Amino acid sequence: MSTVVVREIARMRRMAEEARRAGRSVGLVPTMGALHEGHAALIRRGRAGSDFLVVSAFVNPTQFDRAEDFARYPRTLEADVETCSALGVDAVFAPAAEEMYPAEPLAFVEVAAVSEHLCGAFRPGHFRGVATVVSKLFHIVGPDRAWFGEKDAQQLAVIRRMVADLNFPVEVLAVPTVREADGLAMSSRNRRLSAEERAEAPALYRALEEAAGMVGRGCADAGAVKRAALARLDGHPGMRLEYLEVVDEGSFQPVERITAPVRIAAAVWLGQTRLIDNVFAAPALSPGGTSTAPGAGSA
Ligand code: AMP
Repeated sequence: MSTVVVREIARMRRMAEEARRAGRSVGLVPTMGALHEGHAALIRRGRAGSDFLVVSAFVNPTQFDRAEDFARYPRTLEADVETCSALGVDAVFAPAAEEMYPAEPLAFVEVAAVSEHLCGAFRPGHFRGVATVVSKLFHIVGPDRAWFGEKDAQQLAVIRRMVADLNFPVEVLAVPTVREADGLAMSSRNRRLSAEERAEAPALYRALEEAAGMVGRGCADAGAVKRAALARLDGHPGMRLEYLEVVDEGSFQPVERITAPVRIAAAVWLGQTRLIDNVFAAPALSPGGTSTAPGAGSA
């Protein structure tokens, strides 16, 4: 069956309900379109893990903190539908902004603490916009399962917490970050990089890998780990640092001593383009094979 493009909320709801009534499980992969191989990885998991698979492609205005970023965000619906079709997606949900927000919204979903630091600190309202639109998509599609990328690890943590706290009957599944051969995390924004910026971009991942390696080798001092990563970025004058943090894997709160699994996350600017990336790191194991920290290793 070919992929159907759905523009209306009522029709999307009806199609998903019909699938459910026919005993089919419903899957959702939320995206902002401009699909690349990172999205394709989520869609393949979704295809294997659900009977009726919906990919949403919606550039959500309420999660942009800068109007210029929203205006410049790539929109490639025709190509996205082709990609979805090739991957066996049942429906692409691509509503207009007026369909999703017919009036100025007054109700929002806010996930405290998890959204406080990192991107939350630098992009006011961003995670409120994300949590609100994902909750709307969950209400419209009613998925049994939804797939999200670790590329946006803080977003994943926000969604997991929203689902847990608000009892959404959805299983949230994480997909590892898909990277270019040189390590750069795939992103719809990468296509905005100039040739020089693109050449500098992989330095971000290399710095994060360096930091994760230090943690793996037993360094528990988050400050030292950060300094080593920052030293790696210093050789790249074209790259402007927004943040680089070591945060607890569960709470996304900054840590000073690394005694449990952490995310090392960073945001940088290359010219007009903002890139984010993150890596997982766990404290070194003791010679006995158990973690040096209670509770560590339970990623
Ligand atoms: P976006 O279209 O950027 O909002 O992303 C939609 C979904 O795709 C989110 O769950 C992202 O985390 C995920 N995603 C984006 N880029 C990648 C990537 N390089 N690897 C894995 N997942 C990704």
